[in-house]
Amino acid sequence: MRITAVEPILLRGTQAYGATTGGEEASDNGDWQLVIRVATDEGLAGWADVETLAPAAVAVIAGQGMAVLGFKTLGELLVGENPLEVERLWDRLYVGSAYYGRRGLAMQCMSAIDNALWSIRAQAAGLPLATLLGGRRRDRITAYASTLFRETPKGMEAAARGYVEKGFRAVKFGWGVFGEDPGRDRELVAAARAALGPDRALLVDPGWYPAGWKQWGPSRSRREALAMCQWLADYKVGWIEDFIHPENFDEYAWVRANSPVPIAAGEQVATIWEFERFIRQGCVDVIQPDLSRCGGLTVARRVAEIAHQQGIDLVPHSWLTHLLTGYSLQLIATLPRARFVEFNVSQSVLTRGITTQPFKLEADGTVAIPDAVGIGVDVDADFIKAHRVN
Ligand SMILES: [Mg+2]
Repeated sequence: MRITAVEPILLRGTQAYGATTGGEEASDNGDWQLVIRVATDEGLAGWADVETLAPAAVAVIAGQGMAVLGFKTLGELLVGENPLEVERLWDRLYVGSAYYGRRGLAMQCMSAIDNALWSIRAQAAGLPLATLLGGRRRDRITAYASTLFRETPKGMEAAARGYVEKGFRAVKFGWGVFGEDPGRDRELVAAARAALGPDRALLVDPGWYPAGWKQWGPSRSRREALAMCQWLADYKVGWIEDFIHPENFDEYAWVRANSPVPIAAGEQVATIWEFERFIRQGCVDVIQPDLSRCGGLTVARRVAEIAHQQGIDLVPHSWLTHLLTGYSLQLIATLPRARFVEFNVSQSVLTRGITTQPFKLEADGTVAIPDAVGIGVDVDADFIKAHRVN
């Protein structure tokens, strides 16, 4: 089997990322979305979504490459190759784009391509992807509703109550106004905890950007970061996420060593080399590789092995379309120990509509993990046609 095309598909929407004030839902990236399709000469195709600067990513995949190794487009590195040799192709993409890539946009595109290749490999084997990756250890997983902080305690209460009514047993609030006013932060978290009751998990993602995005220095000193962990413990927060500058591993390790609340992070981390350093330096209790940014499943499955060896949990970061949820669920199915799937409730029209069968929350607060061939998620061709602009 040979790869015949790597097609970047650029979708345009009209919604802007943003929190709301009350119980109504926030929206995620609704202005652009990139989906990629890897086609083969045997009719199999792999689809994946990418969280990146979508318009620029089109050029990285299918634009004009240069003659020198290290400056190739990802598409030209792949066409004609055997799609089943996924890990060899990961190395080929990394080296072929090394001068402009290695992290960021190129790595995010590589991640989606890698996921699509794993999907093709599973389809070629006639297996669910989880079976190909080592075996399904579970058929469902508790979902946490993943959304943005509302601006008022009343709004938090209404939002949290809404998730309880939908059946969620865990909720994560992130970003929004959190960090602008410590007094209000505490009121927002208190309101969420009161509405969720004592037994549902409450997770907090304060964001690592400076408060309100109004300044461009560090948002908190490490003492302030620790103080925040200490007061969040009063509300039995299950983890505090991604709130330290992503390059500052030392600070992560120091705060984690002293925090009464478990520390989760990893959505900014990419490649197995960086994950290995991040985990072995003791930065987190919960590692959160994002399969659309970290280097794809080829990286994430190795991260899972390290996490298992080090006695920490892995919960994939997954705040995009149902395609990414689909890949994340297949990895989760294989983990020796699994806690949650991140369930993006804050979706825009663009991220919600890409697949024909959106994942649904079951009455027990879980999401079923498909056991169909591949990832068990199909792309909605009509939706893509309606929103495509390239
Ligand atoms: Mg986060």
